[in-house]
Amino acid sequence: MFRCIALSSWIKSVKNQIWYSIGSCGGNVELLIEMILAIPQHVAGIHSFPENKHFKACRHGPLDPAREKPWLKVGSLAHKKLVLALRGYKDSRLKDLPQMTEFQHTTTNEQLNKIHNTYLPKHTFFGAVQARVRACLTAIDHNVNVNRPAKVDAAGNVIYSRKVTRDGQSETAIPVKVPKDTQWRTKIMEEVVEAVKVGAVPTLEIPTDEHLKLYGKKLARQPMEDLVEATKARSRFSK
Ligand SMILES: [Zn+2]
Repeated sequence: MFRCIALSSWIKSVKNQIWYSIGSCGGNVELLIEMILAIPQHVAGIHSFPENKHFKACRHGPLDPAREKPWLKVGSLAHKKLVLALRGYKDSRLKDLPQMTEFQHTTTNEQLNKIHNTYLPKHTFFGAVQARVRACLTAIDHNVNVNRPAKVDAAGNVIYSRKVTRDGQSETAIPVKVPKDTQWRTKIMEEVVEAVKVGAVPTLEIPTDEHLKLYGKKLARQPMEDLVEATKARSRFSK
């Protein structure tokens, strides 16, 4: 198990280089692939790549000759493991790179899903109308509170909280954000109360209505035998 021990000192810089490559490729997948494949070269002490079309050399400049980090030997088990990790089985990870050139993070989706779980918890059944309204509430809550500024103390300094990774091995300081604005809920309730008082139903325009029409067209039902045949044709086991 200690045969790849030299790799451990490279893990952090390999991770950083993957982030850097995706963040700085500017949408150019050829450049991104060359940058990713330069990682195993860099760890082996090779820093120029004349055969490349775009990424001809590492961007780090001259390295400190006194550095103690060991280079990995090309062909060693540790080096082969690194190349395999970057390329994936049958280059599967390289084939994913065209989807990553825009450096889009999933954080926003995850935040939205978290809010959605609050308004539409999965353990409770809601009908279609409830589901739509609760999705709208999710969108309002998200849009009103997205990009909130950091909370500051009396002296005007940003307040931070400690964030520890799941494995407990590293921690970072994260700025605490100002509390969420929930005024919009009060406004909705006030309108509802007002409508009840005056006995009027407000005219509503639901922004998702037009979009829902796209899903209104249902396919004609196919005979069950045809569906079973199609399933069998796809299966690797029941031919
Ligand atoms: Zn290098």
